Amino acid sequence: MKKSLLAQRAWLVRSKASAIATGAVAASWLLLQSLVALPAVAQTAEEQEPITYGQLLDKIEEGEVTRVEIDSTRGVANVRLEGESEDDPLQQVTLFANDGNRELLQRLDEYDVEYGALEVADNSALTWLATNSLLALILIFGLLMILRRSAGSAGGAMNFGRSRARFQMEAKTGVLFDDVAGIEEAKEELQEVVTFLKNPERFTAIGARIPKGVLLVGPPGTGKTLLAKAVAGEAGVPFFSISGSEFVEMFVGVGASRVRDLFKKAKENAPCIVFIDEIDAVGRQRGAGIGGGNDEREQTLNQLLTEMDGFEGNSGIIVVAATNRPDVLDSALLRPGRFDRQVIVDLPGYQGRLGILEVHARDKKIEDDVSLEAIARRTPGFSGAELANLLNEAAILTARRRKDAITMTEISDAIDRVTFGLTLTPLLDSKKKRLIAYHEVGHAFVSALLEHANPIDKVSIIPRSGGIGGFVSYLPKDDRGDDGLVSYAELVDRITIALGGRAAEETVFGVDEVTPGAANDIEQVTNIARQMITRFGMSELGSFALESPNSEVFLGGNFMQRSEYSEDVAAKIDRQVREMVKGCHAKARQILKNHRPLVDRLVDMVIERETIDGDEFCRIVSEYVELPKRDLVKSGS
Ligand code: ADP
Ligand code: MG
Ligand code: ZN
Repeated sequence: MKKSLLAQRAWLVRSKASAIATGAVAASWLLLQSLVALPAVAQTAEEQEPITYGQLLDKIEEGEVTRVEIDSTRGVANVRLEGESEDDPLQQVTLFANDGNRELLQRLDEYDVEYGALEVADNSALTWLATNSLLALILIFGLLMILRRSAGSAGGAMNFGRSRARFQMEAKTGVLFDDVAGIEEAKEELQEVVTFLKNPERFTAIGARIPKGVLLVGPPGTGKTLLAKAVAGEAGVPFFSISGSEFVEMFVGVGASRVRDLFKKAKENAPCIVFIDEIDAVGRQRGAGIGGGNDEREQTLNQLLTEMDGFEGNSGIIVVAATNRPDVLDSALLRPGRFDRQVIVDLPGYQGRLGILEVHARDKKIEDDVSLEAIARRTPGFSGAELANLLNEAAILTARRRKDAITMTEISDAIDRVTFGLTLTPLLDSKKKRLIAYHEVGHAFVSALLEHANPIDKVSIIPRSGGIGGFVSYLPKDDRGDDGLVSYAELVDRITIALGGRAAEETVFGVDEVTPGAANDIEQVTNIARQMITRFGMSELGSFALESPNSEVFLGGNFMQRSEYSEDVAAKIDRQVREMVKGCHAKARQILKNHRPLVDRLVDMVIERETIDGDEFCRIVSEYVELPKRDLVKSGS
């Protein structure tokens, strides 16, 4: 960069030289001096004990000045004093610009000193020209650089009609159905696609139209990408993949041309699978969305639809797309002849989790006494990706602890790590630590005494990354790890437990000392209570669905779904929510107040040990209080 700038400057000077032969040297000298030599001037002036304007006038009067050169552009006079030789450099005196140097000129005339003006008028014009053209050149150069760079990344901004598509092609994915577990229905549906790809004649012979598109719908990390790869792997065909977000570019038309390129390549390699991840990025309902439509996206989508209509049903290309937002997709995409098959890829249940754990345990060294069943039981709600990550974290912990094989301890730590974040150093015993301990013991103690609560897994006050001061984790009631339908009583107990933390803070430290640490709990409480009233019909307001399950505002959808009720009803809902929460809060406080000494003891224990196992916690409580009977199996390690 530096080098090229210098080159620019040299070029500039040369071009000037050809135009104004003599002035050019002066110009380049000036330019160089102003760019490079300024510090040097300052240095010599310092050595020489500078003369002020006033002193100069005095010196003229006293006849000590022999010669003055006035440089009005720079506002200085170069002065030769008496007794200095011709070789000495002239002394520089800064002039007052405002009086046009009249006083100085008068004085010079009066005392008959030789003076002259430096020929600067041309120079100043030249300097101006030179600096400006230099600036312009730098600007043009910079623009060129920017253009070239964006051209590189966009696959040719200068020639975007023929942009390189950024899709990947894998000739062999190496993934088989065996590597995908827990989504058996989805696998079965896709088995059919594999057969289409392998023996299309079987279908075309009897006039069946082979589907062109399959839409995989499911939450992130459930194995949609993996499944698409497995289809290609099973059928032994190439796998083209691109993400929907990569279609959407800065320039209108790039996305559409990428789609064209992708399908051109796919046709050359048929039979094959074209996988479009995150198709909702391009496939949103057209003409909708806040702030008007998006031309680029619409063009891309139109191109995609055209391509899909364009190839014959038996050309051997099957488009598999994945999304977790099927609700926002353009209806044109879901028409027959396009993505007419939808396959749901849901979060795995107990069996599914067990299957996924088995797949990922294959290549890991795991101690014999580790039961994958127990892990599957303890991880309800985990996606395939989270389970894979869990085993990987456990393996990393094992390596760090220099053990030979993964044990249940590492698995357990890894579960906490995946759900609550990395552990940070424990707090020293302080008021803050005490408060956190009371908060967590508050949750745990209340849940131990409530009949419909889940069994406690552990109570921990080790801080976690992500701002968690501590946590109480629970085990699922059901021995298969899924809670299934939740009853009214269970929901009420959940609210009470969630309020237990704040209630403990209040009971011990007083209402003035509570902290925002309970913000999460309170949000959860309000959520449950509101849903019970507006969706589950669990209040005096009766069995009305007052709100739809997904009242989120999202682009491209109908976002006026809320409030299908009058203001009168809204006020009633608020009152109901408040009453329910108030009742639960009072109950939690009562439980904690009634057993204050025991709570204190438990807090001391938690502060000392940082983490307590749920079993032990309950055993200590049961020494003093009779615990409610629960019809559940305590599972886990
Ligand atoms: P998605 O595309 O649905 O977001 P991925 O297919 O990218 O999810 O899954 C990420 C990783 O998680 C996979 O590479 C795999 O290791 C693991 N995984 C997810 N689901 C499964 C599953 N059903 N069986 C086995 N592994 C899975
Ligand atoms: Mg994916
Ligand atoms: Zn809490």
